[in-house]
Amino acid sequence: MTLAAYTMRALPAQLSGLIPLALDLRWSWHHGSDQLWLALDEDAWQATHNAWLVLNSASTERLQALAEDPDFLAVYQSQMASHERFSEAATWYSENCDGQLGDGVAWFCMEYGVSESLPLYSGGLGVLAGDFLKAASDLGVPVMAIGLLFQQGYFRQALNADGEQIEFHPYNDPTMLPVAPLRDSNGEWARVTVPFPGREVRLRAWKGQVGRCELLLLDSNDPRNEPGDRGITSELYSGDPEKRLQQEMVLGIGGWRLLELLQRNPSACHINEGHSALALIERAHWWQRRHQGDFATARMATRATNLFTTHTSVAAGFDRFSRKLADLYLAPWLNENDNTLDTLLTIANGGEQQLNMAGIALGMSGRFNGVSQIHQQVTQTIFQPWFGRWPTADIPADFVTNGVHTPSWDSPESDALWTKACGQDRWRRPMTESCPLKNTTDADLWQMRRAQRKRLISYLRGRLRSQHCEHNFGNTAEAACGLLLDPETLTLGFARRFTSYKRPDLLLKDPDRLIAMLTCRDRPLQIVLAGKAHPKDEEGKALIKRWKTFSRLPEVEGKVVFIEDYDLAVANQLIQGVDVWLNCPRHPWEACGTSGMKVLVNGGLNLSQFDGWWAEAWNENVGWAIRPNASFAQLSQSDQHDEADALELYELLEQQVIPEFYKLNDQGLPSLWLDRVRASMNQLTARYSANRMVREYVNEFYRPMIVKGSRRNPEQARELVELLDHIACHWPALRFGSLHSEGQGGHRLFVLDVYLDGLSKDQVCVELVAEASEFGPRVVQAMELNHGLPGAEDSYQYQCSVPTRPAEHFTPRIRVRDERLNLPLEDRHILWYR
Ligand SMILES: *Cc1c(COP(=O)(O)O)cnc(C)c1O
Repeated sequence: MTLAAYTMRALPAQLSGLIPLALDLRWSWHHGSDQLWLALDEDAWQATHNAWLVLNSASTERLQALAEDPDFLAVYQSQMASHERFSEAATWYSENCDGQLGDGVAWFCMEYGVSESLPLYSGGLGVLAGDFLKAASDLGVPVMAIGLLFQQGYFRQALNADGEQIEFHPYNDPTMLPVAPLRDSNGEWARVTVPFPGREVRLRAWKGQVGRCELLLLDSNDPRNEPGDRGITSELYSGDPEKRLQQEMVLGIGGWRLLELLQRNPSACHINEGHSALALIERAHWWQRRHQGDFATARMATRATNLFTTHTSVAAGFDRFSRKLADLYLAPWLNENDNTLDTLLTIANGGEQQLNMAGIALGMSGRFNGVSQIHQQVTQTIFQPWFGRWPTADIPADFVTNGVHTPSWDSPESDALWTKACGQDRWRRPMTESCPLKNTTDADLWQMRRAQRKRLISYLRGRLRSQHCEHNFGNTAEAACGLLLDPETLTLGFARRFTSYKRPDLLLKDPDRLIAMLTCRDRPLQIVLAGKAHPKDEEGKALIKRWKTFSRLPEVEGKVVFIEDYDLAVANQLIQGVDVWLNCPRHPWEACGTSGMKVLVNGGLNLSQFDGWWAEAWNENVGWAIRPNASFAQLSQSDQHDEADALELYELLEQQVIPEFYKLNDQGLPSLWLDRVRASMNQLTARYSANRMVREYVNEFYRPMIVKGSRRNPEQARELVELLDHIACHWPALRFGSLHSEGQGGHRLFVLDVYLDGLSKDQVCVELVAEASEFGPRVVQAMELNHGLPGAEDSYQYQCSVPTRPAEHFTPRIRVRDERLNLPLEDRHILWYR
């Protein structure tokens, strides 16, 4: 296919560098080149914040004039030089771990929120993916991201006069998105195909540049595809299972094939959520083509360097496809690779009738992780069914708490303050210790906070004006809009997906009590809300409507506003200006939550449920927690806490938040408030950054996993497969013999006979386990081999001595032991004494 349609317009020769500059999404967080885009086409830049669109829409006359404008040329040249310095600069990776990630990490995700001008995301997962890539770019970590170029993406939102959500699906014209067709080594448009029933689906490849990282995108809108197939990559999360499976095939199979076409040969593969699990199967197929091995060996060889990150809090959140649908769609691809759906179903879990994508992801990975400390426990719980008789506490789920890309979320005011305290480029270095805001006075902090709030209010007024001024609030709408909200009033923000577990209505439990706070003469509160409800979530839509109706009560009009069409741009404004960010999800549904992290750098404070990241971050000095120090056990059975949580929320607002904000010292500054702001900025900004998160993935996962993977060449992988077959063959015959225990001073000695049926004593581990009780914490202790039992083959006596507890608290078990494997993920055999 020719690329004629995508040939760039002719630019004056001296400005040709604008093309790579406009195609590097670095402009979405590094605002150095803003002046250039403003000069090219101010209206287009203000409306879209899309440098590529601006470059394409600027008139030829304008370009000619600027090519001769010395001021413009000076800025242009300095930006070109700065971009070159950026591309060549040493990075954390090049200085600390150069080469250790080999040919880099392939990073798969269904959605990416890099910028509002590339709307390929719906919410938290996509924004996290965007922040991950930006931080990987800052740190120089070789990550290549793979995703889908949705023609419509997620829906756009408006509300009608009754507060009902209206959904739009505007078309993303790919030529206007800040991406370019991806060319192969011959300069042709890179294309891959994926086998579908009775046909091949052709995919076109695009490239987005995110600083040093590439975002490779696939779409199916090739005119030679069947009409139905052209729409596979139209909407994100449409809710139709057939389309969902098609999208996951395109992402996983097509994505891996694209890497193969480009000869990228990544050293590790990281999938975010199970949506892209088929990439791991295709990676194994690719290994088979290279090494002529069977699938089991390919799986063993590749999985050591596959990482699966789950962001889900309930098992119902996993994608499952009926056997019939899976068979229809996957058979042509599986046949082509001598593979079968039964193999996939066995990998996915063995029992379930449906094909569970999280199961495939788990069964094809060498490690897996949740996204906060609490979510690690949630993950252990929801994945326990994949591990047979393994107790939840032994499920080998790790965790990496999410973080946000600080330079994308800081305000101009906070940027100035941090630069003064810690210098330029601070977010690109490892943010190990927080850089304390030295020499920053309370007056500086307060001035920053006021300036940010003021800017937010003026943004909101403008936004509300175009939102039909909240449907004719007051009589003279235009003038009235200028009066909405107040720049000196304590401003509370709440913006996220409107769905019942996030409890957006918690503040509305007692409307009169809320009205009293909003209308208090001397110490008022105002609230800004935003968020979309999934088109099929009627409950979520009703929650929006409740707020909208409330905001139009005469007594609170102008004090509570709902901003339509929540997206990255709206989020960016809100998190810069609000004083308090509210988050009150129902436990344990919030895997991590990231929006609250975005206010940290700007001196906003969090008032949040003790859940997700806040359960790790909170202490009395940095903000407020609803039901602090609740334990995981309490958390997981807490659907009943709505009333109590609402009461606690009102009390915190009335007794702590509002009084502290308005309590001024003799210099007119709210010093208690500013102490908190300073503590939150100093203690939390670096810790909840994507900079820390990416380094954790590199150091704790990618690097050790790649080392482990290097010990799985074809022969080694084959040997491990044979070992596991051997174990599976003998396991059913393993037996326990007699068990004795006796007290010995402060200890208890256990002596146990076991029969291993042809397995060697080095291949298993015999352990004594006691669950936590009033006698102490959980104990898992390896028993030591005493000697072989005379007169019986493969029979051994083990013993160990444990602190005194009732004998019946201890249960022996046998499990597989092998340093080369991640157990029990790679082999789930376990035998309990009873
Ligand atoms: C940060 C962000 C989210 C995620 O917020 P949570 O608090 O994790 O739900 C969703 N949407 C947008 C636009 C964001 O910027």
